[in-house]
Amino acid sequence: MSEPFVTRNDITSWGRVVREPQHVATPRFLDQLPPLVDAARNSSLLASGLRRSYGDSCLNGDGDLIDMSKLDRIIHFDSANGILRAAAGASFSAILQLIVPHGWFLPVTPGTRFVTLGGAVANDVHGKNHHTAGTFGRHVRAIGLLRSDRGRLTLTPQTEPSLFASTVGGLGLTGLIEWVEIDLVKIDSAYLESETVPFENLDAFWDITEASAEKFEFTVAWVDCLARGDNLGRGIFSRADWTPYGSFDSHRDGTLKRIPADAPNFVLNRMSISAFNELYYRVNKARSGKKLQHYAPFFYPLDAVHGWNKLYGGKGLLQYQCVVPRATERTAIRTLLETIAADGQGSSLAVLKTFGDLPPVGLLSFPRAGTTLALDFPNRGAATLALLARLDAIVAEAGGALYPAKDGRIPSDMFQRSFPRWQELQRDPLMSSDFWRRVAI
Ligand SMILES: Cc1cc2nc3c(=O)[nH]c(=O)nc-3n(C[C@H](O)[C@H](O)[C@H](O)COP(=O)(O)OP(=O)(O)OC[C@H]3O[C@@H](n4cnc5c(N)ncnc54)[C@H](O)[C@@H]3O)c2cc1C
Repeated sequence: MSEPFVTRNDITSWGRVVREPQHVATPRFLDQLPPLVDAARNSSLLASGLRRSYGDSCLNGDGDLIDMSKLDRIIHFDSANGILRAAAGASFSAILQLIVPHGWFLPVTPGTRFVTLGGAVANDVHGKNHHTAGTFGRHVRAIGLLRSDRGRLTLTPQTEPSLFASTVGGLGLTGLIEWVEIDLVKIDSAYLESETVPFENLDAFWDITEASAEKFEFTVAWVDCLARGDNLGRGIFSRADWTPYGSFDSHRDGTLKRIPADAPNFVLNRMSISAFNELYYRVNKARSGKKLQHYAPFFYPLDAVHGWNKLYGGKGLLQYQCVVPRATERTAIRTLLETIAADGQGSSLAVLKTFGDLPPVGLLSFPRAGTTLALDFPNRGAATLALLARLDAIVAEAGGALYPAKDGRIPSDMFQRSFPRWQELQRDPLMSSDFWRRVAI
């Protein structure tokens, strides 16, 4: 028996700005999927994972949504060769708990482990090792895809190259991903040797990032986006490599702190963000240097507090992540930071990362050679939208793009210009999303 679709008001993406009711089914077994596809034929359909996308790319308010997160079975783990096949709803968190004690790790991971395999493929996610490993899709060996028009398919880069390239980074629009098989990477312990390097301004960032990319597997920087003048772009650079020192203990989820309710809207204002940024910069400057660090705080610092998105208050948050190409990155990142600092709305989570040259696998993958800047803004309605529109103009002028996984408002002409192959996507005729209806149709 298939679980029916039911109307729910509690389903939102991570930004919590969109609050439309969703018509959702939550199957427990893969054989429940074909009847659900049939049931949705008069409407439109979309799969969602753990809804760690920020905007509307994992929502389908005008149609039906299949929450895939309970389809989380590990199908096969070859611990000798580091190959894992699991149902698409398996979370990175659960996978790590299985594989780390055997000396394996995920080839690429985003900044939270609460994402599913299906979501990671559909957004072709990137991590702190983009310059050495590229995106997640490069490490995918095979995908089990259920399409409304072709039934069950197995996609590999060799046997179905174009549908594989459409599905990786395909925003869930090429069908339901039922399972994924990936190559893992060998580790010698669950620890990294990490180094924290404070930098005074943007010029210093470019020097450190260039020097670090050649020597370190993982690099990323936090920037104080409210600093101005000689300190514009000051921040904390973090770089690391796996080390053989330490045990193979995986993380534990039992002790996570939880934010119980929305914080009042005044908690994150210019003064509090500015004070936070100042403190964060000073504390990390004082703690600079090398240390042995377990993978959980290194890759997933925000996961220590469950539901931290509620700190942004009842109106939610808008994330803004752009990438600008090599040729224009220095001017564009400076102009973006000047605009944000002058506006004063501020973001406590501002991340700068240089993407490497490895080409993405997906037709619509976001990463490309250049520099990416990601920021979280409390949603202040028109004032925030006006600032983001000013940032759009700078990114567009630089020939850059915005990340659909983080977006809830990109104008359609900007999406279509920065993802010029969008019409080639081999979309399943039944699949759609709030995002796709907004930017592409
Ligand atoms: C704190 C935080 C840090 C993050 N850091 C990064 C980062 O460093 N790098 C990065 O790239 N991203 C990052 N993200 C974004 C996140 O990695 C992506 O949005 C990811 O795709 C979310 O996975 P999910 O399982 O929650 O998928 P959802 O958000 O639920 O869905 C994402 C997309 O996948 C599709 N989808 C999901 N499951 C399936 C399926 N089974 N079949 C077909 N389509 C499916 C959905 O339709 C949707 O289009 C971060 C997010 C947060 C909250």
